[in-house]
Amino acid sequence: MRIGMVGTGYVGLVSGTCFAEFGIEVVCLDKDADKIERLKKCEIPIYEPGLEALVEKQVSAGRLSFTMDINEAVQNSKAVFIAVGTPTRQEDGHADMTYVYEAAREVAQVMTGYTLIVTKSTVPVGTARQIEKIISEELARLDKKDVEFDVCSNPEFLREGAAVNDFIRPDRVVIGTESERAVEIMRNLYRPLYINETPMVVTSPETAETIKYAANAFLATKITFINEIANLCEKTGANVQEVAKGIGLDGRIGSKFLHAGPGYGGSCFPKDTLALTQIGQKYNAQQNIVETVVWVNAERQRSMAQRVIDACGGDVEGKRIAILGLSFKPNTDDMRDAPSLQIIPFLQDEGAKIAAFDPVAMAEAKKCLEDIEWCEDSYEAAKDADALVIITEWNEFRALSLSRLAETMKTKCMVDMRNIYKPGDMREAGFHYVSIGRPEVRPENTQALKKVS
Ligand code: NAD
Repeated sequence: MRIGMVGTGYVGLVSGTCFAEFGIEVVCLDKDADKIERLKKCEIPIYEPGLEALVEKQVSAGRLSFTMDINEAVQNSKAVFIAVGTPTRQEDGHADMTYVYEAAREVAQVMTGYTLIVTKSTVPVGTARQIEKIISEELARLDKKDVEFDVCSNPEFLREGAAVNDFIRPDRVVIGTESERAVEIMRNLYRPLYINETPMVVTSPETAETIKYAANAFLATKITFINEIANLCEKTGANVQEVAKGIGLDGRIGSKFLHAGPGYGGSCFPKDTLALTQIGQKYNAQQNIVETVVWVNAERQRSMAQRVIDACGGDVEGKRIAILGLSFKPNTDDMRDAPSLQIIPFLQDEGAKIAAFDPVAMAEAKKCLEDIEWCEDSYEAAKDADALVIITEWNEFRALSLSRLAETMKTKCMVDMRNIYKPGDMREAGFHYVSIGRPEVRPENTQALKKVS
């Protein structure tokens, strides 16, 4: 079988490559000429572990190709996936559907025979019906009424940084359509997973579209919940990591997404939670919990910068702050809505001088941050710093030499927003150590330390 993938970003490229791995012929389309040129040479425009080798393998096998010509992607393809962006519409927080609807229109213009149009993008409830309408209208306009088609919602749940594995071994596949023919095609496409007994949730398009937003909003809520518990722990002397373990072992709760930190960011949770609140308002079914989550998370990111200022004695004017980690999470270069983008400008406004290092996201970060001293490694950033702030928990930050940091820094002060160091170790190394949901460690504060070590 042959399919087309419209939009070759994180989701389109990973999905297209993995479908090729399933034995399907895949043509990936994008409007970005530079991206397509690079992909034709098997150069991957994003950082995603394991993806480059898989792209090379599938291109050599002749199953995966890249194009800017929509005819190549659509004609002779049984299914065409739409995997373009659905960013936040700035004026009102709704998902901006311009790219999805434009893609649907463009596909309809070149369709010549039966085609299944599948939305992989995260889209508001009602989008499948709207796509159906757009395509019908376009076919009628072009006098191609006899060209048959179906629509299907097939939301994607992959996580950047683990995307290939997530696609190949998903917890479930959601197929939202009312057409038997479409279900049959989708089952064939996902056949290797079907054989592995991956659950397939076959449902209506509206339900499929809701599942994706509900899943992301639930996970964002879980993160926000533990972040507020962390605030309480800081006041009471409890340890949020142990609280998270204690509740996470309850099978009804589960241990995942219970890591307190600087607030969720990234290309999905912020925009999808916001979009869900807008969908709720549109249908007069207010999403009060999610609205609160959106607000609490925004406040949290602001409060993280204040935490750094407090650690520096209430003032960062003229101080050098070393920042380790810029991407919204490790193993990706994605800077979209990364907490660092809130924290760093806030510190700069207060007069701080920022020296930053990230193992892979610096090229992307340079596009969205200014007046930064970009460093080659963690120690260069830490040199003469008044405080060192860990925003993203890249593995290489987990085992820094504390003695080397102590030698090079002006003040031994660390704000660890990911709790990757042990308070006892930091006390031994003589650091002022501020983490999340655990008592602050001051070199002289032995009372607090006894509670945490
Ligand atoms: P992205 O910005 O990385 O990629 C989108 C690509 O689509 C871009 O390369 C753009 O040039 C291209 N494009 C836009 N309009 C086009 C058109 N008409 N024809 C051809 N190409 C076109 O976006 P992404 O992160 O891959 O996200 C895509 C969708 O998947 C979004 O709705 C997102 O919410 C959803 N999603 C993302 C993730 C993730 O982790 N990134 C996970 C699950 C779902």
